[in-house]
Amino acid sequence: MKIIMLGAPGAGKGTQAQMIADKYGIPHVSTGDIFRENVKNGTELGMEAKKYMDQGALVPDELTVRILLDRVAQDDCKNGYVLDGFPRTIPQAEVLDKAIKELGDKIDYAIDVEVPDENIIRRMSGRRACLSCGSTFHIEHVPPKKEGICDRCGKELILRDDDKEETVKNRLDVYHKQTQPLIDYYTGQNILKTVDGTADMMDVFTAITEILGE
Ligand code: AMP
Repeated sequence: MKIIMLGAPGAGKGTQAQMIADKYGIPHVSTGDIFRENVKNGTELGMEAKKYMDQGALVPDELTVRILLDRVAQDDCKNGYVLDGFPRTIPQAEVLDKAIKELGDKIDYAIDVEVPDENIIRRMSGRRACLSCGSTFHIEHVPPKKEGICDRCGKELILRDDDKEETVKNRLDVYHKQTQPLIDYYTGQNILKTVDGTADMMDVFTAITEILGE
């Protein structure tokens, strides 16, 4: 099963993508995580991506597409994957479609996790991330067992630069201009499904599993 998660930054699509990955046994592929991993390791790709990420801007399509196609060509993606944070522009979606079509395959679902901007801004300030393993938590909604510490790997949790208020507003702006057109794009392909992202995390997940099936 190949799934794309859509929704504004902070809509909760990363959390849902991880839950889908766990339930259906497919990898959770997040371009944001791949970039952050590269920033952490000080790679050339990381240094290039950081320039854009710190401003809440998108990393150029050419670079992003290359890392995504490399990732989904790996063995563990053979039986499917859930994409989180990709595509974010129409050209990215077109490249992905073309690559998948060449393999005689298709995307099964694009799931839009819908949340109004006001809720997003409130949510983001509570978000905490683990730079070590990529897990995300929320001080109110998904608190870690021990404050400030990652449940998964025990490292310190932080408020990411790109979750800070000014950057969040910028990212929402970018989302509306560049990513929202994907809603029409996947509606046109008849694979768009919308879930109410303001609902409780488990209710959102139930709505998603009703779409995907057992
Ligand atoms: P995320 O964790 O998905 O919100 O991504 C964090 C940041 O990484 C974004 O604000 C962008 O700067 C960059 N990024 C992640 N995915 C993409 C993408 N598909 N296209 C361009 N930039 C991306």
